[in-house]
Amino acid sequence: MEQTLSIIKPDAVAKNVIGKIVDRFESNGLRIASMKKIQMSAADAGKFYEVHAQRPFFGELVEFMTSGPVVIIVLEGEDAVAKNRKLMGATNPKEADAGTIRADFAQSIDANAVHGSDSLENAKNEINFFFARREVL
Ligand code: GDP
Repeated sequence: MEQTLSIIKPDAVAKNVIGKIVDRFESNGLRIASMKKIQMSAADAGKFYEVHAQRPFFGELVEFMTSGPVVIIVLEGEDAVAKNRKLMGATNPKEADAGTIRADFAQSIDANAVHGSDSLENAKNEINFFFARREVL
């Protein structure tokens, strides 16, 4: 069993499709181990995406992630990290396979509906960044 972190980004929250995205996870063998809606601060977003700090799009990324509430989810299941990445689709929704979350709910490379941890190690760090142990059940 693995755990991974998903974030439903501000664009998808604003489109009122939280339930539709959660259904993709539950219908594909992933379980919700924790879930909460938060407003990220610029400090939160900057720290969460610090690996991208030198990228030209970093400012836009922080601005976008703080533009409205997000839903932070811990997903649990067999191969949860890879399974979630498959369900999400490519970073650029124009390149995402049909039937993926980004193909169906995202409009652009920055407003791309969801985040998902890209390795088991990052998943552990990202879960610890947002959740206390007693919140993950
Ligand atoms: P992910 O793991 O598929 O989310 O992609 P990355 O880790 O490569 O990038 C993190 C996030 O930065 C992406 O989900 C996008 O929201 C954003 N991003 C990546 N590349 C670009 C870009 O070229 N322009 C902009 N504006 N945002 C980008």
